[in-house]
Amino acid sequence: MGEQPLPPSPAPYRPLPPMKQFDAIQGDITQQRLDAIVNAANTTLLGGGGVDGAIHRTAGPELLEACRALGGCPTGEARITRGYRLPAKYVIHTVGPVWSGGRRGEPELLRACYVKSLRLASERGIKSVAFPSISTGAYRYPIEQAARIAVETVREALGKPTSVDLVRFVCFSAGDLEVYRQLLGERGAGSGT
Ligand code: ADP
Repeated sequence: MGEQPLPPSPAPYRPLPPMKQFDAIQGDITQQRLDAIVNAANTTLLGGGGVDGAIHRTAGPELLEACRALGGCPTGEARITRGYRLPAKYVIHTVGPVWSGGRRGEPELLRACYVKSLRLASERGIKSVAFPSISTGAYRYPIEQAARIAVETVREALGKPTSVDLVRFVCFSAGDLEVYRQLLGERGAGSGT
């Protein structure tokens, strides 16, 4: 019945820094219930084919109205609107480069799409963002090269102060997903820091 010895005192409590993560899935970006989805738009911002068309169809005509008010967007830059009828609250519209061999600034412009999209997200306090594979459809950027830029740029951005703590790459095809998975696996899947 004597007093029990006290257990050794635990290490002082130190909250962990918030975990920042990224991952890749196969799916339709219009169905993603994250704070923001990114649109691979064109410079007019007035809609197009591919992922752009799908986003406008799901978001409804209010999105086109909001985009019209923005008056376009240069390649390598980004703009933000609400998501209207999408499950995501915001759409970040960015314009990827058209591939024409890789010596016309395509890598820098593609990188800028990811940097500027994430910067806009952070300015709005957005926590979760889904990206499509920008420029690799109609704009013909080779998927291996584009995905490497996407993953490296996002990894870097999440290592700096930002409100964003989840980035999800939403691949339309199983082949694209495989490319992203390989890249994410190179330094430990899903760990952004
Ligand atoms: P870009 O003009 O920038 O090349 P595209 O829309 O043509 O843009 O293609 C970009 C990528 O988006 C391609 O990999 C394409 O397969 C993919 N994509 C098309 N529709 C969707 C969708 N609903 N969700 C996610 N990705 C999509």
